[in-house]
Amino acid sequence: MTAKYLIRFDDICPTMNWDIWNELEAVLIENEIKPIIAVIPDNKDKSFFINEPVSDFWARLKKWQENGWTIGLHGHHHQYVTQDRGLLCLKKQSEFAGIDEETQYHKLQSGLNIFKENNLTPEIWVAPSNSFDLQTIKALKRLGLNLISDGFSFRPFRHHDMNWIPHQVWRFRPFPFGLWTVCYHHNTWKPGDLEQLIKDIKKYRHQIISLQDVLNHSEIKERNYMDVMFHYTYCGAMQVKMWLNSSLNS
Ligand SMILES: [Zn+2]
Repeated sequence: MTAKYLIRFDDICPTMNWDIWNELEAVLIENEIKPIIAVIPDNKDKSFFINEPVSDFWARLKKWQENGWTIGLHGHHHQYVTQDRGLLCLKKQSEFAGIDEETQYHKLQSGLNIFKENNLTPEIWVAPSNSFDLQTIKALKRLGLNLISDGFSFRPFRHHDMNWIPHQVWRFRPFPFGLWTVCYHHNTWKPGDLEQLIKDIKKYRHQIISLQDVLNHSEIKERNYMDVMFHYTYCGAMQVKMWLNSSLNS
């Protein structure tokens, strides 16, 4: 019973950091890694205005999806409009949490329409800043999206009538068992970050799987006391870590 890892890349958009991405993409292809790619359908977040927009963005996504990569819906504009943590316990900022269901539904629908215009269907929801609420879940279900990449557990689980693929870490760590999603933000990578990922891919290669592997081999059961215990322990640890970071930086 060894640990398995999914790799997720957030903030994929036409004006992202392509210099790093092109190197990264080559590494992923060479190692036959099939990551989750969290795509912002209509990015308005200026921090991702890094390179000139590529003209074949959607064609690239199509090719990745055909190669078994998972395309995720990562918000609509990626602009935070509330200071709401949503259902998880991370940052107090959200594009969705705290907004009424109808407004969220229309934002999500607008995002999905952009995918549709480009003949693509995202398979999983990835909330900007990990923040979304029950209204988001209701709206996602109405729109036919029944899978979330988020939540703290050591295994996929079903909760609020929705399937959750847990996401817990932002770099590889040696876990003894469980399914772990490692999330990367290549747009803000510093020198050495790509090299570290290459090292980790080499070390963990046989434990890295795709979302399709997870869905083919896991029976997703209703969240139970073990998932709840994991959630509260993990949230407690994250709160302490964030408090320590803010104390050290203030
Ligand atoms: Zn993001």
